Order: sequence, then C-alpha cells, then structure tokens
Amino acid sequence: MSGALASDLRNLLGEDAVLTEPGDLVRYEEGWRYGKGKALLMVRPATATQVAATLAACLAAGVQVVPQGANTGLVGASTPDASGRMAVLSLERLNKRLEIDPVNRTARVDGGVLLSALNEALAGHGLMFPIDLGADPSIGGMIATNTGGTRLLKYGDVRHNLLGIEVALADGTVLDAMNLLRKNNTGLDVKQLFVGTSGIFGVVTGAVVQVVPVPGQRATALVGCASGEAALALLRALERDLADVFTAFEVISAAALTPVFVHHEGVRNPYGTAHPPVYTALVELASTLPVAALDLAALLEERLGTLLETDVAEAITDVFMGRPDDFWAIRHHVSESLRGEGRVLAFDISVPRSRMAAFTEAARALLAAEYPFVRCCDFGHWGDGGTHLNLVWTEADAPIPAVNLVPELQSRIYDLAVTNFEGSYSAEHGVGPHNQRFYEAYTPSLVRAVNGALKAHLDPQGILGTTRL
Ligand SMILES: Cc1cc2nc3c(=O)[nH]c(=O)nc-3n(C[C@H](O)[C@H](O)[C@H](O)COP(=O)(O)OP(=O)(O)OC[C@H]3O[C@@H](n4cnc5c(N)ncnc54)[C@H](O)[C@@H]3O)c2cc1C
Repeated sequence: MSGALASDLRNLLGEDAVLTEPGDLVRYEEGWRYGKGKALLMVRPATATQVAATLAACLAAGVQVVPQGANTGLVGASTPDASGRMAVLSLERLNKRLEIDPVNRTARVDGGVLLSALNEALAGHGLMFPIDLGADPSIGGMIATNTGGTRLLKYGDVRHNLLGIEVALADGTVLDAMNLLRKNNTGLDVKQLFVGTSGIFGVVTGAVVQVVPVPGQRATALVGCASGEAALALLRALERDLADVFTAFEVISAAALTPVFVHHEGVRNPYGTAHPPVYTALVELASTLPVAALDLAALLEERLGTLLETDVAEAITDVFMGRPDDFWAIRHHVSESLRGEGRVLAFDISVPRSRMAAFTEAARALLAAEYPFVRCCDFGHWGDGGTHLNLVWTEADAPIPAVNLVPELQSRIYDLAVTNFEGSYSAEHGVGPHNQRFYEAYTPSLVRAVNGALKAHLDPQGILGTTRL
C-alpha cells in the first residue's frame, strides 16, 4: 500500500515531498512527551492545494493521516500509532505566506509558519503575536491545540486572537474563511470548529491572526506567599490595582522551585540558602508607555510595598524585584528540572481560579494519605486557573510499579479536579491519545454526540488524526 500511495503522492507533489525510508521517518514518529509510533510514510506538501490533493489521495487509498506541525504537542496527538499504516502530513514546507498589515494589526500566514518566524517578521513593525510559551510551535498546530501560554491573563488564548482560517478538508476540498475583520456577525463562526480539535476536522493551511504592539517595558517581581490562599489574595489585589498593565501571574510551589537551583547552577536563587515559602508568584507588568510616562518597575515596587501594609501582608513572606529574563528563566526551567528528580507524571489541570488553593490542598492531602512516596511539585498559570500539578517519585520508593501507579494517580487526580472542583483534565494541551479515556469519562454525552456528528459530516471515513472526539 505504501508503494502505490507514495508514488501517487510523488507524482502530485514532487520526489522530495515524500519520505518512506525508516531512518528518514524517525523524527516524525516520536512526540515531545508522549506518542511513539511507526509511519507508513511522511508527506510534506508546500501549498494548500497540495495539502488538499494529499488528503484526496490518502482518502482514495484508505490511509489515515496525522497532521503534524512543529511536533511540540504534549498529548501524543501529532505522531502515528504503532500500526505502520498511518501517513504523517507534515506542514513544515507550508511556511511561505507571511503577510503583515500593520494598520489592520493582522498577519496572514501559512499553517506551517513557526511562531518564532511570525514574531521575527512582526518585530520590524513593533508588533508581536501575544501567545507566549517555552516552545516554538507552528501556527496550524497552535490553532489545533488552542495554545494558551504564559500571558493568557492579558491577551487570551489562540481562540481569542484568530480572525480567519483556511482548512483542507478530508475530501480534498479547501474551506476558505480567511476573514480579516474583527467584526463580522454573519452567522456561524466556522473557524472555531478547527480550534482546539486536534486537526480531526481538517488540516489548517492558513490563518489570519490579530497581533499586538510589543510592550516597550516589562517589570517583574517574585513574591513569596505563605499559602495558596495567600497567592490568590495577591492575585486579586494586583488585578484590582494594576489590571491595565498586569500581564502574567505564574505560581511555583517550593517543591517545584528548589530543583531548578539544584539542576541549573547558572540560575540565581533569590532565597539564597533559606528554604523557599510554600509558593512563589512571578508577577509581570508590561506597557507600551515609555518609562518617562510610567515607570512600571517603580509602580510594581510601590504597589507591592503598599500591599505589605495591608491585610495581605501576613501572607506575603518576601518580595524580590528583578530582571524579567532572570525571573522567566526560573519559571521556564521548572519542568525539565523536575525530570532530574525522578519519575514525573505531568498534569495540565484547570479549576476556577477561586478554587485553585483548595484544589491543590485537597490533592496534597490525598497524596499524603494514600501515596506518601509521591511529591507534589505543582506550578503553573494560576492567573488563568491553570496548574501543572506534576507528581514526582523514585521507582525505588514506590511500592506499586509505574505501569499501574500512573493510571491510578491520573484517575484519582482527574476525578478530584473534574468532579469535585468543576475543573478540566486538560487545561491547554488538548485531548489526544494521552487524554482519550478522560475525554470519554468526563465529556457529557450530548457534547460527544455533537462532536461525532460534525466528524461524520466533515470526515465520514475518519481518516484525519488520532484523537476521537
Ligand atoms: C517546552 C514546552 C512548553 C509548552 N508550553 C505550553 C504552554 O505554556 N501553553 C500551551 O498551551 N501549550 C504549551 N505547550 C504545548 C505545545 O507547544 C502546543 O500544544 C503547540 O501549540 C502545538 O503546536 P505544534 O505546531 O507543535 O503542533 P504539533 O505538536 O505538531 O501537533 C499538535 C496537534 O495539532 C495537530 N496539528 C498540527 N498542525 C496542524 C495543522 N496545520 N492543521 C490541523 N491540525 C494540526 C496535530 O495533529 C496534533 O493533534 C508546550 C510545549 C513544550 C514542548
């Protein structure tokens, strides 16, 4: 089957657009965190028309297709399964179109354009795409996963910044909804069908995104908090006083923070030899105003100083003002530092912000009572109700093998988040094979029915993606 399809695709797209040698396929077969399989072939069309033709050929051959952008997704949805029968459709060559309209404050891009390339082009106009994260994904992949990132508090997620879309559908047609308008109330907003749905309704070949002016100044502080409730009180006070310029509120537990300084000697520990408090909040302000008009660092220092004289004071243990790059380096090193501590089970949970502290405490209590060998190293985007409640243990200490412990912990923690705290088992990474069984467990049956009807309409033979919504 591989031979006939590969030769059809080579005729359509050219010799070098199709890879079939096992050695060439390896890098498209393994995901960043989850997902490792075997591909039938990898095909990399360079235009929307070529993507559509690829899908038509795969449909005719009855071959399932996995769209792949930059392969930075974290739920195993961008790689093939182990069958060796799926084609990987890489968007890596669909990256030529990058048109900026500085007056409209929009960018019209191909689906395979990388976030870094978009921002590089925008920088010349003093603009940026405001979704910010520690990876360099493609715009199509960001749409398919509805990426959140560290500044969602200020700018929203991809969904909030997407104006138009172009999608190749499973039958080989191209849906053109490359809307440039911020206001266009003319019925169904069709682009939203393709946001956060893991590429199972169509392959994003183009997009129009709205962009924002690059702030000329940023100011950051690390604030020690004696408890989760203290962190929430700080968040509330900062929003009340500084909402216009408040861009990020990340929270790191002591258990997640300490390993950063153990595994990265170059990253400075503001607490020195003292033990960090229960939580450390990274607070960021940003503005396009010049420092002469508004000195953000001074403003932040003054506001935090004032808070130290109010009822929040008892809950705040430390305040450190510092350079944004230094403080963000601490935040961005957390995840990888934990890997140096032992076995890590990562979570991407959201709960209503007001319940974040209570949820985390309940999770800790559950772990202490039933899994005392597990460390709760939680950190994340508390400003938008997100937490990576990562659990760490060493195999030697665990009385249960990881193969049994992992699904057990997932069920216990997700049940707590979804059932008791009205939360989500996937705040920003999507469903994918990694979360498939939780989608089935927690999604209301009518919502699943709507998803199923859309899938049956857009992709009746089910050739697109590995996620089943
Ligand atoms: C270090 C690191 C930090 C991260 N931080 C964050 C964070 O803070 N917030 C956050 O939300 N995410 C975060 N992520 C997750 C990840 O970066 C996003 O999910 C990313 O946006 C996916 O884009 P991609 O191009 O890599 O897509 P891929 O990984 O290639 O694919 C992801 C999904 O999208 C589908 N897909 C890809 N391209 C297309 C397309 N053109 N059309 C249709 N479907 C497509 C794939 O089939 C798959 O289902 C992080 C990842 C890493 C590695």
